[in-house]
Amino acid sequence: MTEYDIAVIPGDGIGPEVVEAAQAVLAECETRYGLTLNYTTYDFSADLYRRTGRKITAADMDEIGMRDAVLFGAMGLPDVRGPEGLELGAQVEMRAHYGLFSSLRPVRLFPGVDGPLKAEKVDMLVIRETSEGMFAGLADEHEPSDESASDRMTITRATSEKLFDVAFSQARARRKRGTPGHVTLLHKSNALRSNVLLEKVFDEVAARNADIGSAKYYIDAGSMYMVTDPGRYDVIVSENIFGDIVSEVAAGLVGGLGVAPSADVSLTHGVFQPSHGSAPDIAGQGIANPTAMILSAAMMLEWLGERRGDDLATRIAHAIQGAVESTLAIGPRARDLGGSAGTREVTDAVISALPPQV
Ligand code: ATP
Repeated sequence: MTEYDIAVIPGDGIGPEVVEAAQAVLAECETRYGLTLNYTTYDFSADLYRRTGRKITAADMDEIGMRDAVLFGAMGLPDVRGPEGLELGAQVEMRAHYGLFSSLRPVRLFPGVDGPLKAEKVDMLVIRETSEGMFAGLADEHEPSDESASDRMTITRATSEKLFDVAFSQARARRKRGTPGHVTLLHKSNALRSNVLLEKVFDEVAARNADIGSAKYYIDAGSMYMVTDPGRYDVIVSENIFGDIVSEVAAGLVGGLGVAPSADVSLTHGVFQPSHGSAPDIAGQGIANPTAMILSAAMMLEWLGERRGDDLATRIAHAIQGAVESTLAIGPRARDLGGSAGTREVTDAVISALPPQV
């Protein structure tokens, strides 16, 4: 019997809509395959903060962190700012609290989905560092004023080593299903001191993983290759802000944010959320594409299965991925992919495409 305790944070905007869709798919998996998921739902959101001033605390995160994994919708609204003037979401706090240092964002051009390029094959995993760099929220020694404000980019050897270890082991795991087994670092060591260290540590880790090919490009040239020649990439690894940007470029290559899942993981904790934000422009209309969230739920089961040696969880994850793939191929198709189906219709199609057994 496969049983897990899952913390659910639906969040803002389309977050609750896509989380409901993912839970509907998971509920069907519970019925069909002998999986049990015990949910505890937490109502943290930018909207709650606006109404009550309540935001997630360290004690909340301690409690949430006792569950086996976190299923997270999307948090943040453009007009809700925290005390420092930044958009309010629990992602940054959870990354720091749980030591989530890597965000895994697989993108694959599924049959039936038109990407913006002529490329027939896009199949890459973007790994973004998420605890350091400019998003670490490290205050600069100068207080921001109306005249000047700054952010600091700090990169450490310890985190970089862990990050590159993840990148090479992911490349090795992907190779089992036919990808080349190759890691590319995107960086800017010709202009940023922090990136000189990043590149140095990458070279060291690459030398220890000589069975996996590796390459390095400056972030500017590497971004161009993503568009002109995406087939050269298997696993891409980068620091926090560059990784944030290139993971959205990668999502754009395969049909957009609606189909791009992500997993924020440390060696002990995992938060699974779509790459997209709360999309307030389409919230409440029942038209959000649930695919990214459903694939994030599949990544959660895959991660749990790997950690626990639970083959059933892994097989269920693959069944969900297969059901999504066949739905993308034959429809119905959500609006962001050029179709007219709403969230519920896409979700129902994924559920119908699940195999009777795994
Ligand atoms: P954040 O900074 O919080 O990640 P963002 O600025 O990247 O957010 P999103 O909220 O992700 O913005 O939305 C970007 C665009 O993509 C919006 O036009 C939104 O409607 C669209 N979008 C995002 N997610 C989906 C989805 N699941 N289905 C359809 N459209 C989506």
